[in-house]
Amino acid sequence: MTERPVRVRYAPSPTGPQHLGGVRTALYNYLFARKHKGTFIIRIEDTDQTRFVPGAEAYMLDALNWCGITYDEGPVKGGAYGPYKQSERKSMYRQYADQLLESGHAYYAFDTAEELDAMRERFKASGMAAAAYNAVTREYMKNSLVLPQDEVKARLEQGEPYVIRIKMPRKDEIKFHDLIRGWVTFNSSQLDDKVLFKSDGMPTYHLANVVDDYLMNISHVIRGEEWLPSAPLHVTLYKFLGWESVMPQFAHLPLILRPDGNGKLSKRDGDRLGFPVFPLNWKDPNTGELSTGFRERGFFPEPFTNMIALLGWHPGHMQQEIFTLDEMVQLFSIEHVGKSGARFDYEKAKWFNQEYLKKLDASVLAEALKHILEQKNIEVPNAEILGAICLSLKERCTFVHELYEQGYYFFEAIRDYDDSIVSKKWNAIAKERFNLLADTLATLEAFDIKSIETAILQFISSNQLQNGDVLPLLRIMLSGTKNGPAVYDIASILGKDKTLERMRIFQQKFPTA
Ligand code: GLU
Repeated sequence: MTERPVRVRYAPSPTGPQHLGGVRTALYNYLFARKHKGTFIIRIEDTDQTRFVPGAEAYMLDALNWCGITYDEGPVKGGAYGPYKQSERKSMYRQYADQLLESGHAYYAFDTAEELDAMRERFKASGMAAAAYNAVTREYMKNSLVLPQDEVKARLEQGEPYVIRIKMPRKDEIKFHDLIRGWVTFNSSQLDDKVLFKSDGMPTYHLANVVDDYLMNISHVIRGEEWLPSAPLHVTLYKFLGWESVMPQFAHLPLILRPDGNGKLSKRDGDRLGFPVFPLNWKDPNTGELSTGFRERGFFPEPFTNMIALLGWHPGHMQQEIFTLDEMVQLFSIEHVGKSGARFDYEKAKWFNQEYLKKLDASVLAEALKHILEQKNIEVPNAEILGAICLSLKERCTFVHELYEQGYYFFEAIRDYDDSIVSKKWNAIAKERFNLLADTLATLEAFDIKSIETAILQFISSNQLQNGDVLPLLRIMLSGTKNGPAVYDIASILGKDKTLERMRIFQQKFPTA
């Protein structure tokens, strides 16, 4: 048998901003498609117009684009199996609902909302656990299985609102093989007669999803665990429609859990614990509320995507955690996706970003820093100095904006001085020493790191001092803080004039008795 070409899809509903889980589903589909030289499709599942959120689709496409996740067929781009938006495919679904009606696998139901409520109440009162519309309760409802045929006909002709429901077998075992979970078995008695089609001409998610996967020749359905309960219905639809032989293989991805492992990660957890759950900034079109994205927090797309991929997958045979997108394509396999929930850890997410930042060329960081300075209307030093600043700070930074925050004193006057060092070490004797040191530094011809270091260390030893008598204070004079790059680096970046100027300014600010 020839292998079926891999065609996978990411099928979001535009009901809100895409969150981490959505990005991960898209990413795994992408990795799987690329690995198998297959096709990655994006399909917009917008059959439920009541839940439509303007901007959600564009947001999702922007987010995937930012992550570097490219697709082969989909909205905007088109393709041979289009359109890729279910609302534009509306006319395609009815015939399959009709096919199910004709083969006796579906039926019309005319029950009003009030009648459905009354049914639920009645069955609840009689002690029935889940009062669903199913193989038992449908016998008591207003549908084409119960009503005389001429009445059904008359109701349809009069244009009475109806839905088309699947006729679930009463007690059938529904079994399918999930690539992550192995064999999964459901009993049809646990399932209800889901609505497949509404009289407004729109299919529901379930029918549209199965029909489109069939028409688009989808080979694998890789999606979140929350869709696992729908899978037996989908499997049943493949069977009823006679498409069993081309049914895609299923892979239901594990949940992404809160940092403490208790339950599914939600926007609320992000708000509460102070981390983003959306890839990009999102402004809620109804409330105007703004949620910060990973991008705007300062994440690079590469480590973000790397981090997302490892929420549930790891190639297994190695310790390595840092991968490029191409490496992940080479290494990806569904077999190495875990079954149990993957805990989201924001600190770990930051670690990925930091590791990535550390490896970036100083020139790349300098470009990014330049952008930040320009936005703040701060005079940008030349490329060489900017590069040296980035090099001196990058080990300590997780985000590019921290290059500015931690090294602002390279561009602006010192905002404040760490008092713990000043009060401990600054006095008349120190003042004399630093005057001498300033004289020494003033005589230096070259003001590079090495020359500065040699001169200062020589100064310390020839005056019988300790490093601690000079270096901490000098650092405070030049940067205001006791943390940061080596003091020689700071001095050389500032240059001789500024270094001496800062030593003078400090003296003026902290006169000794
Ligand atoms: N439209 C569904 C969603 O919003 C897709 C489920 C599936 O991939 O089958 O996640």
